[in-house]
Amino acid sequence: MKTYFRLLSFAKPIEKFAIPYIIFTLLYVFFSTMVLVLLGPLLNALFSTNAHAVVAQTGPAPSIFHMSEMFKYYMQYYINNYGGPWGALKFVCFIIIIFVFLGNLFRYLSQRTMENLRVHTLLNLRKTVFNNVMDLHLGYFNNERKGDIISKVASDVQVVQFSVTATLQVIFKEPVTMIAYMVALFSISTRLTLFSLLIIPVSAFIISRIVKRLKAQAIAGQQSYGNMISYLDEALSGIKIIKAFNALDFIKKRFNKENETYSSIARSMARRQQLASPVSETLSVTMIAFIVMYGGYLILNHKSDLDAGHFIAYIGIFSQLMRPAKAISDSFSNIHSGIAAGERVLALIDEKPLIKDAPNATAITEFNEGIHFKNVSFAYQEKEVLSGINLNIPKGKTVALVGPSGGGKSTLMDLIPRFTDPQSGEVLIDDHNIKSITAESLRALMGFVNQESILFNDSIYNNIAFGKVDATPEQVEAAAKIANAHSFILETEEGYSTNIGDRGTKLSGGQRQRICIARAVLSNPPIMLLDEATSALDTESEKLVQDALNNLMKNRTSLIIAHRLSTIQNADIIVVLESGKIVEQGTHHELIGHNGLYRKLIDMQTFTN
Ligand code: ADP
Ligand code: MG
Repeated sequence: MKTYFRLLSFAKPIEKFAIPYIIFTLLYVFFSTMVLVLLGPLLNALFSTNAHAVVAQTGPAPSIFHMSEMFKYYMQYYINNYGGPWGALKFVCFIIIIFVFLGNLFRYLSQRTMENLRVHTLLNLRKTVFNNVMDLHLGYFNNERKGDIISKVASDVQVVQFSVTATLQVIFKEPVTMIAYMVALFSISTRLTLFSLLIIPVSAFIISRIVKRLKAQAIAGQQSYGNMISYLDEALSGIKIIKAFNALDFIKKRFNKENETYSSIARSMARRQQLASPVSETLSVTMIAFIVMYGGYLILNHKSDLDAGHFIAYIGIFSQLMRPAKAISDSFSNIHSGIAAGERVLALIDEKPLIKDAPNATAITEFNEGIHFKNVSFAYQEKEVLSGINLNIPKGKTVALVGPSGGGKSTLMDLIPRFTDPQSGEVLIDDHNIKSITAESLRALMGFVNQESILFNDSIYNNIAFGKVDATPEQVEAAAKIANAHSFILETEEGYSTNIGDRGTKLSGGQRQRICIARAVLSNPPIMLLDEATSALDTESEKLVQDALNNLMKNRTSLIIAHRLSTIQNADIIVVLESGKIVEQGTHHELIGHNGLYRKLIDMQTFTN
């Protein structure tokens, strides 16, 4: 229930929808019930023996609260004054047309309101989920979660809308309809209605047995669907490798196994859901048969003053009573999957970013002196990756991080833009602890280029101007020139407006990287962070990219990680990191003279290159 109300809270302001909905529904229920109620007097007036007689009318017209009486009164009035039964029939048909028209008009209006509410809820829910996911800390996003997030945003939200708002409709409209019908039934025959109240719970019990297991199945089904999306995503992004390693069979089997699990859950759920309808239909006809029997018994034995017209109207209304009852039970079977999906979506909304601005965080606008690591240690879960790091990156200098793979270089770099927080120690920019300044202003001081060129399916121009809406075409072009990208961009079909495809697949690795560099140049930050920016490239494009990087680093403070040591020999300071500790620090010449790990790494590369 709590989940349900929280989901509803996304419909804010709910009164805007609820009030008109309640009014329209009440009017709809009133008119549609009246059509059925009027059936009794109508049949009696037409078929009973004394219908054609002129009955004296006494007293004033009955009030609007006694619809049936009032109807009878006017009907008699018509028989008396306008040509007998034929006139009365015309009158009745006219009234029925008006009531049916009004009933359906209000039904349409109430459904329209409900649709608006549904779309509105969905809009808010999707927006909230997406915004919250984007705000989460980087550590949250690993591959296994990606499919899960996609399936939550794409399909669970959809399930929520259909079941939760559909139930909302049911929660108000169907009970009101049932009450109106019950009132009508009681007004026709109390005895018969009391009898039928005895048999309704029996069928309700049978239905509830059927829907009981549906919730557990719904949860399992959605989880399985999330896995399937993960596999799909992984398979699509790794298709080249999958084919190259002849792993198609493995990948296909893995996907199909999940697919089969999902299908068998879906099948078993459908079986139960489908069972609900035929069972309830059979039950309702059985109930009606019992009522006909009992009512007939009462009439045959003159134990009731029920006349034919009213009895038929009674059966008519009772058979209609099953429809809202069925709608309620159907929606209970639906709401389980809706609540399960809702819980998954809300869990994603409740996920709090581990890294967020301190309440009194200030924006930093300038960078004057340098970046300092003070006794910084960092661990992923249990595993210590950096320990006791003390490091100065003075303004205007180029600092290179080298060392064996897995030594913690990327992790160290991630601490500067606060992608992760260290467990102990502090990272300072000038003399501000980076935890005391806003992440946005901190990141605005930095440009990033790393091994994977992260590009978006858009034009070259928009990829360079990414995140900088006020860039002019001249600035974009100048940035591309600095990044050695201008000439190849002009050679593409549509120049700067060329679309680069999904993740930039229409470009070569070196070209992608140069676009990323142009992007960093354009944003013109004082600090550059480069993580293996040339590692994924062949020697020729590496040369072009390296030139571009050298342009990029001019007059800036840079921290670079490069595994090809020839590219960092000119760095002002070279820091050697091994197993999370700084083991050596100095210029190229100092370190060569030191005859330590750096020297060993250099020697190894001169052999292999
Ligand atoms: P480098 O960049 O020097 O090659 P990294 O900083 O990427 O090294 O990784 C340092 C260590 O941290 C490695 O042993 C790696 O296994 C581990 N590591 C890196 N990222 C994660 C992560 N997201 N979760 C857990 N361990 C990680
Ligand atoms: Mg790395």
